[in-house]
Amino acid sequence: MTQIEEIITEYASRTKQLDSILQELTKEFCADKCFYRPYGCCGNNYSAGIPEEMLLLQEKEAKENGWNGKGKTSTKSTNNHCKYHTKKEGCRLKLYKPPICIGFLCADLRQNINKKYGTEGEYFNELMYKFRHSRLDIGSHEAEKLFSYIDASIEVGKKLLS
Ligand code: SF4
Ligand code: SF4
Repeated sequence: MTQIEEIITEYASRTKQLDSILQELTKEFCADKCFYRPYGCCGNNYSAGIPEEMLLLQEKEAKENGWNGKGKTSTKSTNNHCKYHTKKEGCRLKLYKPPICIGFLCADLRQNINKKYGTEGEYFNELMYKFRHSRLDIGSHEAEKLFSYIDASIEVGKKLLS
């Protein structure tokens, strides 16, 4: 296995858990209060900082989850959203969702988390901010830093939900 493949595997082993914590923490707010429905914050910049190896894994995962292999839709109202977005179920990716997607919490949502969970919520938002600005086309030293953000986010996220 190459170094980048090892990093992607380690990444995917954590994202599913963090993604399900985020679903719990954010689903009510995003479903009821989002100004950008139906696509929310799913713009088409999901590939920033993502190595080619992971882009291929994303396509594979999305196909397994029902993606038809097509790019953007042709209607005007929907031509600016990510090809992996579904109106009904949201994102088709769980394992290979990019940091920019998992870590993005809009200002309104961050405010809601701060209000609801106080200091722990603020800390969670900080971790998400750091995570969001991470890349995956990196070396092992930077990868350790990235994994530490994810591990800390999982730990704090679990506390918020308990
Ligand atoms: S994070 Fe904000 S912009 Fe994105 S779906 Fe939730 S409410 Fe909407
Ligand atoms: S990869 Fe998923 S979360 Fe990211 S923009 Fe696309 S649909 Fe949204």
